[in-house]
Amino acid sequence: MEYVRRPIPAWGVLASLLIGFLSAYALLPGGDKGGAFRSIQIFGLPLQTAFGVFAAVLAVLGLIGAAIYFLPRSLGFVSSNPLQAGQQNNAVLATGTLLNLELGKVLGIIRARISTDESYGASLAAAQTRLAELPTPDQVRVIVSLLVAENHRMRLDSADMAKKLEASRAVIDGLRLRLEKAYEVGLQDPLTAVGNRRCFDVTLGGAIKTAAGTSTSLSIIMGDLDHFKAINDRFGHPVGDEVIKFFTQLMVGSVREGDTVARFGGEEFAIILPQCNGREAERIAERIRAKLSAKSLTMRRTSQDIGLVTASFGVAELKRGEQAEGIISRADDALYEAKGAGRNQVIVAG
Ligand code: GH3
Ligand code: MG
Ligand code: MG
Repeated sequence: MEYVRRPIPAWGVLASLLIGFLSAYALLPGGDKGGAFRSIQIFGLPLQTAFGVFAAVLAVLGLIGAAIYFLPRSLGFVSSNPLQAGQQNNAVLATGTLLNLELGKVLGIIRARISTDESYGASLAAAQTRLAELPTPDQVRVIVSLLVAENHRMRLDSADMAKKLEASRAVIDGLRLRLEKAYEVGLQDPLTAVGNRRCFDVTLGGAIKTAAGTSTSLSIIMGDLDHFKAINDRFGHPVGDEVIKFFTQLMVGSVREGDTVARFGGEEFAIILPQCNGREAERIAERIRAKLSAKSLTMRRTSQDIGLVTASFGVAELKRGEQAEGIISRADDALYEAKGAGRNQVIVAG
């Protein structure tokens, strides 16, 4: 199920404006536009005047509609296509709403069960009181048959409740998977399929906590393709995209299982390396740098020669008590030092 926000149909506003103005023009006094219908009257008004009033009302409504629809958009208050901007959010919101509905159902089942239990309890209490009054054998028989009936109702009720709860559990499991998927998609860079900036922030935050909690080392590498704008300019954006993907795969293939490669933005990437000191991180960055610059790139499909592509790297090891901004900014400074020193090199932050 999807929630779709339908905009006020702009064509409706425009059509009513157009019809209004055309009718008003066609029925303006003068000329022979009213012609043969001049004798007909509506609400005591000649046909031409009645149509004129109707057309004027339509035109005014059209103008009001146009103002309501177009003014906020021209002032930038409303996105002209809200779905594009927030499709991902809509999916999460829709799933969240469904989850709430299902949880509401579960609560309803539990509440119904509590009231059944209460009435069962009341029946038992009543039976107990009546039994204590030493009733006749016939009365005992009636009380026992009432208890049997009550017990039977409880058994049916329990089976029904179990069935309903099981159905709800299946629905909730499905919705939970959908939420997890939406969350994952929200953390993934669509071009390279590695983590995006948000994924990097979340992962680095967790890695810093773990490193501080276990007194283990943690390093990050920031890598940025050199003169990438020139590659785009020379070969076009799609080729630039392929180079970015190639660089990503090279990094992913050069790190360990628990490391995280993320697209920091544009042609800049970051790698989070838990339990890795600055020296080891430098070695890994150097390995990536050397592999990238080792041979000239060729587009597989078109055999187009791209030439040598290089990247610069900044490495930083987490200092005691340091937060994410600190280590990111030191790695970034080291990266820009590498750029300034001629590119295609690795610099470790002090
Ligand atoms: P430097 O060596 O100093 O890093 O120079 P540069 O040209 O790599 O850096 P600059 O910041 O001048 O240009 C980066 C370019 O990367 C500009 C931008 O259009 C391009 N870019 C960013 N994201 C993408 C993308 O997803 N695909 C493609 N093809 N290009 C991108
Ligand atoms: Mg660059
Ligand atoms: Mg850059």
